[in-house]
This record gives sequence, C-alpha cells and structure tokens, in this order.
Amino acid sequence: MTGSTHVALALTATVGVKWLTGFEPNLAGWSCVVLGSLAPDIDAGGSTISRPGSLARKLIPNWLCRAADAIGLSISRKVRRIFGHRKFFHWPILGISMIYGGFYFNNEPLAWFGWGYVWHILGDFCTVRGAPMISPLWWKDLSWSPIRTGSKEEHIIEAVLWAIILILFVLSIPLETREWLSTTGSALWTEALETWQKARNWI
Ligand SMILES: [Zn+2]
Repeated sequence: MTGSTHVALALTATVGVKWLTGFEPNLAGWSCVVLGSLAPDIDAGGSTISRPGSLARKLIPNWLCRAADAIGLSISRKVRRIFGHRKFFHWPILGISMIYGGFYFNNEPLAWFGWGYVWHILGDFCTVRGAPMISPLWWKDLSWSPIRTGSKEEHIIEAVLWAIILILFVLSIPLETREWLSTTGSALWTEALETWQKARNWI
C-alpha cells in the first residue's frame, strides 16, 4: 500500500472510533496516528516515512528538507538491509505493545502511534504480498486480498476512505454550527448574486 492509503486507513479507523465512542485524540494524538501509520515502512528503503523532509516540506527551508530526506533515506536503506522489508518492523505485536505501553505508562501519544502502526500492518495484510501477522510465532506472510500496491483498486479504496473521513468529519460538526454555516453561506451567496446583477445592470 502507498503512504497516503495507509494514512487514510488509519484516519478512517480513528474517526470511526470517535464516531462510535466519542473518544478522540488531541492534535498531538492525530499527528501520532499519521506517523504511526507510516512508520513500519521505515524498512522499505525509500517510502514516505524515509523522507521526513518532504513530509514537512511546507514548514521548513529547502536545504533542511533535502538534508532530512538524505538522512532518512540512508537510515531506511540500512534498516532494510539488516531487517528486510515487511519483516520485524511489520510485526503486529510491536504496534500492540505500543498501545499497551501507552495505556500502562499513561502516555496517550504512544498509544495513538501504536494504533496507527497496527492499522498500517492491517493495510499490508490486505495486499497480495501480505504481512507477517503472527510473527514471531509463524514467519509466513499472510494475505487477505489480491490488491496490489499502487493498483487501480487501491486508488479506488483510498478515495472511498477519504470520502468516509470527510462525511464523518462534517457529521461531527455540531448541528447548530452546521445550520449557522448553511444559513450564512446561503445569505452570502444571495448577496453575491445581487451584487453581480447590480454590476451587470450598471455596465
Ligand atoms: Zn508496510
């Protein structure tokens, strides 16, 4: 799966939890869900998480962006050489331990990072290559569906996930705020149309 699909999947799961239970991360927690959902691919040698500079492109100067990417890529290549892709860093037990540790040490960001991490591995489990779902008990990669990374099917799934996030986000806005937005929006629209008519008559 590509980085953006991993992020979309983890965010959909988090928005779903919020929708069902009312429990949601704070801003730091949301960032940890995103980072956790990209983190396991540090073993891929060139994935989104290996380019931290590009991730923060709009916030930092260009030279720092290139330096951060160079460091990230070199770490990622070493990790891949030592551990292999979709091996140790794709063990679900790592993410589960982070969630458990987050609760145990009362460290919410760690728990949300682990939550994003687990959803990354579940995402890889849904690709044809699969993921080592019950390692280290059994080393075999298990796969649940024949979707290929970067395929048309994956892009369709990603689009559906972003649509779900958007709908649940809009629905989570309090009713009064939504009503206020729609009345203010339509009043502004009418005003704009009237001004346009006046301008046309004047011309
Ligand atoms: Zn992965």
